Amino acid sequence: MKKLAIIIPCYNEEEVIGESYSRTKQVIRLLPNPTEIIYINDGSRDRTRFLLNEIAASDPQVKLIHFSRNFGHQPAVTAGINHCDADLAIIMDADLQDPPELIPQLLALQEQEQANGVYCVRKSREGDHYFKRFTAKLFYRIMNSMSEVKFPLDTGDFRLIDRKIMDEFRCLKERGKYIRGLISWIGFRQVPFYYKHEARAAGTTKYPLSKMIRFASNALLYFSNKPLKLATSLGFTAVIIGLVLATWFTLGKIYGFSKAESGWTSIVTMITFFGGVQLLTVGVLGQYIGVLFNEIKARPEYIIEEKRNF
Ligand code: UDP
Ligand code: MG
Repeated sequence: MKKLAIIIPCYNEEEVIGESYSRTKQVIRLLPNPTEIIYINDGSRDRTRFLLNEIAASDPQVKLIHFSRNFGHQPAVTAGINHCDADLAIIMDADLQDPPELIPQLLALQEQEQANGVYCVRKSREGDHYFKRFTAKLFYRIMNSMSEVKFPLDTGDFRLIDRKIMDEFRCLKERGKYIRGLISWIGFRQVPFYYKHEARAAGTTKYPLSKMIRFASNALLYFSNKPLKLATSLGFTAVIIGLVLATWFTLGKIYGFSKAESGWTSIVTMITFFGGVQLLTVGVLGQYIGVLFNEIKARPEYIIEEKRNF
C-alpha cells in the first residue's frame, strides 16, 4: 500500500487548526494507506505553535516543522515536500477551504488514471469575496497568456503529487518558487479534479493584498520574459509616435499650419508620456534585476527552528 503524506502550511491559524486537524484525522482513519500529516508552522505569532505541539505530542502520525519566522506560504509548502518521504503527497490549506473529505476521491482518481499528479480545479469559489474571485480569475488568465508554460486555470496548490514529481521538484534550484507553476512545468501525467472551493472555516485570510501582489508578480517574473518584450515594444511605439509628431510639427512650422504659441500643451504631454514610458521600462528591468539579485544571494528559502516526530 502506498504511503501518503498530507502537507499543511499554517500561519496564525489558531481559530481553525483544531477543527482542521480533527476533520483531516477522521478522513485518514478510513484510508487503507499508511498516512501522516506534515504541519509547517510558518512563524505564527498566535497560539498555533502551542496547539500544533499539543497535536504532535498526542499523535505520532503528525510531523511538525517550526520555521524561525514567517517565510511565506510557498516556502512552507516547499519545506513540506522536502521533508516528505511518502509515495504520495497531498498539499492542502489549513483553513478547510480545500475539504479534507476529498482526499479519498483524489487517491481513487490517481489510482484509476495511473497519474503522477491530480490538480484540483476550483469550479466555484463560494467562500471568497468578489474582489478575490475577480483578481484570482484575472491572474490565472494573465499568467497563461504571458507564460511560455501553459497552466491549468483556476488551480491552486491543492493537489496530489507522487514520488516522481516530488523528486523532480526537490532538484529545482530556484528560490522564488511558484509551486503550482513549477509542478505543471515538471510535467508527467497530471489530471484535473473539479471541486467547490469552500469558505474559510474560521479566522481570516493570511494573504492580504500586499502578499497577493507579491505572489502574483513573483509568479509572473519567474515564468515569463514577456514584460521585458512588452517594454521593448512600448519603447518602440514611443519612438514612432515621437517621429510622427516631430515630422508634423516641422512641416507645420514650414507650411504655417502649426502655431508656435500653442506648443505648451504638446510639450508637457510629450514629456509626461515619454517620462512615463522610460520609468516604466526601467521599472520592469529593475524587477528582473531584483529577481537575479535574490537568486544570486542564494539564501535558503526558509530556516527551521525545530522539528518534531521526524
Ligand atoms: N500561509 C502560510 N504562510 C503565509 C500565509 C499563509 O503558511 O505567510 C498558509 C495559511 O495558513 C493557509 C494557506 O497558507 O493554510 C493559505 O492561506 P490563506 O487561506 O490565508 O489564503 P487564501 O485562501 O485567503 O488565499
Ligand atoms: Mg484559504
